[in-house]
Amino acid sequence: MAEAGSGRALLSVRDLRTWFPIRRLLFSPSRGYVKAVDGVSFDLSPGETLGLVGESGCGKTTLGRTLLRLERASGGRVVYNGHDLLSLGEAALRPLRRRLQMIFQDPYSSLNPRLAVRDIVTEGLRQHGQLDGSLDAVATRLLHEVGLDASALYRYPHEFSGGQRQRISIARAISLQPEFIVCDEAVSALDVSIQAQIINLLVDLRHRYGLSYLFISHDLSVIRHISQRVAVMYLGRLVEVGETRAVIDAPQHPYTQALVSAIPVPGKARSRRIVLRGDVPSPANPPSGCRFHTRCPQAMDHCKTVEPPLVRLKHNGVEHRVWCHLYSH
Ligand code: SF4
Repeated sequence: MAEAGSGRALLSVRDLRTWFPIRRLLFSPSRGYVKAVDGVSFDLSPGETLGLVGESGCGKTTLGRTLLRLERASGGRVVYNGHDLLSLGEAALRPLRRRLQMIFQDPYSSLNPRLAVRDIVTEGLRQHGQLDGSLDAVATRLLHEVGLDASALYRYPHEFSGGQRQRISIARAISLQPEFIVCDEAVSALDVSIQAQIINLLVDLRHRYGLSYLFISHDLSVIRHISQRVAVMYLGRLVEVGETRAVIDAPQHPYTQALVSAIPVPGKARSRRIVLRGDVPSPANPPSGCRFHTRCPQAMDHCKTVEPPLVRLKHNGVEHRVWCHLYSH
């Protein structure tokens, strides 16, 4: 599968696969595989945010975790700043880990409830032997970066609101001066007004420190506020990638069209909403041909047997890429 990206890559992903063996018992032979990520390729430029969208169960989180070596890849390549991440041993990977961070959906469970905030946000620095100054001074500076103040230092996670906890998670993630952060449904658990504040904070930090994000969400209306490009994922594969405006103004893949039709537009009656039939099929037994054919309102006979090729399209002079037989003539 060809790459989907632009410019000099900070992260280059090629044909990435993460398959989980299906076993009846722990040590019994594999009876097949759950193909959570199955041949994904894209590039991410320095300072860029790529939104990754799709229904739950389509492999987004597994993809993010595989990039950071939190899941074992079954095949493919992930090159970060010239380092082939999947082939590095743990010792060689360790100095790179500080550059690659993750922010999780649920700040309630991702923060250690027994640690005070000053210990949470400086934990990585202490582990890497990089605490430069007094613990309180460093923690205060980090809290200030995310809009909190020193009054939080000696308090515990349960004393904060969801939005404040996500700010603490972000302070922890930026403490080691990362270059690349996977934000996994990082605002999905928050109220809409708080979502906007956290997105604004992430955008500020991107500008301040030149961060790159893979911003994972099931909600395109959130992704469009933060991402320069969008990648749409369905059942382990990318189906459309392009600049955010091009994908949202002129979605080409029938799956993307359904996702876009669900975005509310303030002050406007919603144009025809495309409601997809059924659920996402099991990644242990994906449909043949185009994986979307069982739900696609425009499916043709050969969609059931032939995998769709990559097609490069232009919208207002901007390229975007789609994997669909509708455009392959
Ligand atoms: Fe629909 Fe066929 Fe395109 Fe798949 S390849 S999205 S089934 S039209």
